[in-house]
Amino acid sequence: MTDTHHEHPENDPAYTGLTVNSGVAQPPSVNPYLSLRPRRKPLPTASELVDGILKGDVTTLSRAVTLVESLSPAHYAIAQEVIEKCLPYSGNSRRIGITGVPGAGKSTSIDVFGLHVLRDGGKLAVLAIDPSSEKTKGSILGDKTRMEKLSTHPGAFIRPSPSAGSLGGVARKTRETIVLCEAAGYNNIFVETVGVGQSETAVHSMVDFFLLIQIAGAGDELQGIKRGIMEMADAIIINKADGDNVGPAQLAQAQYRSALHLFPPTASGWKPEVLTYSGYYELGIPEIWEMIDRYFAFVKANGYFDAKRREQARWWMYETIDEQLKKHFYDNPEIERALADAEADVHANRRSSFAAAAAVLDKYFAK
Ligand code: GDP
Repeated sequence: MTDTHHEHPENDPAYTGLTVNSGVAQPPSVNPYLSLRPRRKPLPTASELVDGILKGDVTTLSRAVTLVESLSPAHYAIAQEVIEKCLPYSGNSRRIGITGVPGAGKSTSIDVFGLHVLRDGGKLAVLAIDPSSEKTKGSILGDKTRMEKLSTHPGAFIRPSPSAGSLGGVARKTRETIVLCEAAGYNNIFVETVGVGQSETAVHSMVDFFLLIQIAGAGDELQGIKRGIMEMADAIIINKADGDNVGPAQLAQAQYRSALHLFPPTASGWKPEVLTYSGYYELGIPEIWEMIDRYFAFVKANGYFDAKRREQARWWMYETIDEQLKKHFYDNPEIERALADAEADVHANRRSSFAAAAAVLDKYFAK
């Protein structure tokens, strides 16, 4: 925190923007005794929540999202019912994924992009998938003050990343939150993630357009980012093209453009574009949104927009099955014990990994 203080003026105590706390990690399993205690507040019913959401009530929306993120089976059941009921009212939005390494300027840019998108009315939900909260119990996206202007805008709903759980689990919650937000009338959805891991694949599987924020002057321009992420991008936008950095940003733009030529054609038929801009000085923002408008017109005309959403829905069905199967397996106390034994055997070289795995699986399937 202290060393980022100077780089991040928003960390100054005098700054008045939204502060997102790093949050408390949730326990790996739910305390079975907890539900025996009397509740202070009764759980809302699914139809109460759906009514509130469809009216666009932000408090109800937040409450429903909290249930989506909860690890409690009772909450999960209500959340699933709410999602099912909201589904017919969802889908009517532009879902845009935004990624970039820490420091690339994601929050600065989202603040500015958000205001640009909201200038003609409409609503915007900003969601996040932050894989860091899983391993380090700390969050890259949440530990600093972010999106100062947007956070006070009445049309914006900002929700930090769900914490804890597998990446698949965290991503599923974000995907479900999109449904709720759309039912509540949010016609623009931003899903932010840190451009360092596999979370991009998850984000890619829930958005229509994938935006990669890069910066110039960070060494060899094409080294810093994984090829796979570049291949997913519908546009690469080079931030901080201001002051002395305009030249390097333009050079980086030329390099990315020629690199993209070597990539295979995209499934959409869209040719990914490379633009420069400055989030901080608000330069080049309309050009980026004009490009995004063109993208949506293009994929809606050629049928790719609907095809991709259908494919994503199919992908998520299998993701959910995978997740539930794993959960059913690993949450079983007998399997937990068998796994501990098997692990000890493998460690001590008493059994091969395969024999040990087969033994545990046999036990599971015999039940
Ligand atoms: P994030 O970690 O990707 O969310 O990045 P931030 O939005 O927090 O930005 C990281 C740092 O870069 C901050 O100190 C910003 O003030 C600075 N920054 C962001 N955008 C620009 C820009 O367009 N130009 C310049 N010069 N600095 C910027």
